[in-house]
Amino acid sequence: MSQSTKYTGGCHCGTVRYEVETSIDPVIACNCSICRARGSLLAFAPNEGFHLLSGEEALSDYQFNRKVIHHLFCSKCGISSFSRGRRPDGAQVVAINVRCLDGVDLDALTVRKFDGASL
Ligand SMILES: [Zn+2]
Repeated sequence: MSQSTKYTGGCHCGTVRYEVETSIDPVIACNCSICRARGSLLAFAPNEGFHLLSGEEALSDYQFNRKVIHHLFCSKCGISSFSRGRRPDGAQVVAINVRCLDGVDLDALTVRKFDGASL
């Protein structure tokens, strides 16, 4: 199990800001219809490890398919810096777009592919 570290991140315009404790080794590159369009690199955190600092009022929600995941994005700049969903056991989980974390060297990440398109 890789170690959790505290990160800060958010959207492009700075309206949405959060603090999260998660592991980004490896990150997940998913090929489902929305991930491939967005190009997100994902890391996951339990709800308790995620704190939205600002921007709640600016978040727009997008849902599709089974509508179990809230694909949130900033209504000002359009950037999706995190999504909210549930694990198979029902626990709330936050999917972080690692590209939106501050100070992360994206070229140094280990990327694991996930075949979300086949789910
Ligand atoms: Zn924004």
